[in-house]
Amino acid sequence: MKIINNIDEVRAQVKEWRKQGLTVGLVPTMGYLHEGHASLIDASHRDNDRTVVSDFVNPMQFGPTEDLESYPRDIEHDAALVEAHGGDIIFHPEPSEMYHEGFSSFVDMTVLTEELCGLSRPVHFRGVCTVVSKLFNIVQPDRAYFGKKDAQQLAVIRHMADDLNMDIEIIGCPIIREADGLAKSSRNTYLNADERKAALVLSQAVKLGMDMVRNGEKNCADIIGAMKKHIEAEPLAKIDYVKIVDCKTMQQIPELDRPALCAMAVYIGKTRLIDNFFTEDV
Ligand code: AMP
Repeated sequence: MKIINNIDEVRAQVKEWRKQGLTVGLVPTMGYLHEGHASLIDASHRDNDRTVVSDFVNPMQFGPTEDLESYPRDIEHDAALVEAHGGDIIFHPEPSEMYHEGFSSFVDMTVLTEELCGLSRPVHFRGVCTVVSKLFNIVQPDRAYFGKKDAQQLAVIRHMADDLNMDIEIIGCPIIREADGLAKSSRNTYLNADERKAALVLSQAVKLGMDMVRNGEKNCADIIGAMKKHIEAEPLAKIDYVKIVDCKTMQQIPELDRPALCAMAVYIGKTRLIDNFFTEDV
């Protein structure tokens, strides 16, 4: 397993693999890796001959008041995890390697990015689409792996790959949770002991919503209402949104008459956490 900081070296390595007829999987991450990331690396290792894990806290996808500076970083820990899960390269560039002076090209998207996290994080998806396009161009993988935890991101990337004719298979992987249900996230390290307990309202609300869907409830307002009521009972929680949207367009729907995503963002203290379920997985 090699840590590579520059683009030319990654390209040279991938070219070498291609000459040998090997397939390549890409797992884009912002580092501080946990078992959620590990599950993506496992999936890539299973499907491909070689796996590249990118480990880059992408400044472009953070808003001016967001946590770019405080985002946790630990490349040595990440290297050990990638190696243990069969990854071959960590691509760990400096921001200046990805965004040279005078950088002025962007990949942006309408419609799908106008709901959910796109509403509260207006520059986020432009940053995500731009950096993922760059990673796709640098690595040129056969397949790329994304977690369903960031469900809107997964839909956006699928749509981008389709719109822009990127010849890369986009694979969505299930949410990995702590034993008590909290979705694993690098941002969970921000939570103090009380907040960690309070954060359980997200996965509890997901379970509540899933149970309602399983029992045949079709009215989105009723499902959302019950989930919000549960979250609002926790004093440390402040809801950003709880919404049900069409799986593909990310537009809100009143009734469960098609495959849908029920997604939420909730502040626990100062930490913004997300969770969700797809009705097709219920
Ligand atoms: P991040 O480093 O948070 O940008 O995440 C990198 C990738 O890992 C994204 O595709 C995430 O959706 C995925 N991921 C993060 N947490 C989890 C989790 N708990 N379960 C599954 N995938 C995850």
